[in-house]
Amino acid sequence: MLTRVARLYGKQDLKVETQAFSEPGPGNVLLRMAVGGICGSDLHYYQDGGFGPIQVREPIISGHEASGYVDKLGDGVSEPTIGALVAVNPSQPCGTCQYCDKGEPIHCLDMRFMGSAMRLPHEQGMFRDWLVVPAKQCFAFPSDITPAEAACAEPLAVCLHAVAQAGDLTGKKVLVTGAGPIGLLTVAAAKHAGASEIVVTDLADAALSRAPAMGATQTINVISNPQGLAPYQEGKGTFDVVFDCSAAGPALRSAFAVIKPRGTIVQVGVTGDMTIPLNALVGKEVIWRGSQRFDQEFAQAVQAISSRSIDVRPIISHNFPLENAVEAFEQAGDRSVACKVQITFS
Ligand code: ZN
Repeated sequence: MLTRVARLYGKQDLKVETQAFSEPGPGNVLLRMAVGGICGSDLHYYQDGGFGPIQVREPIISGHEASGYVDKLGDGVSEPTIGALVAVNPSQPCGTCQYCDKGEPIHCLDMRFMGSAMRLPHEQGMFRDWLVVPAKQCFAFPSDITPAEAACAEPLAVCLHAVAQAGDLTGKKVLVTGAGPIGLLTVAAAKHAGASEIVVTDLADAALSRAPAMGATQTINVISNPQGLAPYQEGKGTFDVVFDCSAAGPALRSAFAVIKPRGTIVQVGVTGDMTIPLNALVGKEVIWRGSQRFDQEFAQAVQAISSRSIDVRPIISHNFPLENAVEAFEQAGDRSVACKVQITFS
């Protein structure tokens, strides 16, 4: 049997090709893939061949956020059922290392994260018509949820994990820097967690225009309104929590300027090395906390999407068939119009 795949060979070298796949073995299921979303890391791999220390060093099938329909069950599998719409959790921790042992699979020493170029050989991804995957990585949705929404489970899980790093957000004033898909889903997750005020900054009006539907109470374009955050610096800063989803130097500097003493900055966005305002970090006793990927938040994201207690639909901006994958990646790179760009499979 053959499947089409979108395989990245290096910087701006993405090809749709055909390859063989086999029947699902014990514990596995065969999925007829439905929709996959292009993530920032997929885009970095495509545009630049990688980011920071993580570089594409061999051909890799793109994609780690996708949904599909269960087509066939391997031996010993009873769930999910045939025909079910599922999202695939791309995390494959080893389950036996010291970090898995102590309940921190995010820090697994042998993590195989689908569609990631972090380790060699690269772990292959999900942008393909057919995928065989362990049943335990599949999370089912009710029938009224679309495959496009289901494909947002992975990025929403990232944002639920980020929000979980900030402690109780009930009644808190929150700033989210960066209004891409992760920034906007973080807005929704913060609102869901009880934040009373959520300000969002970005450089692009198109990105910010989607923020109110996700729960933002104010949006600031820091290009057209460079002083927009100035009022929030009052009295050493006014935000309880900042989620930096931009990984941009100027945004991080302004985060340290507007955070309250002893406030928390959750670092969600990632880039290479950068300079930081150490004086503000120390002087205001800021807690600056990194957040990577997710763990049990994947199941929570599936639940939130299933009940639409978090509605992900406002972030979905474009959709292309797999044969136009290159066009999809080019579109995803144009932040003047694109937010979450998705690819539809067979
Ligand atoms: Zn492990």
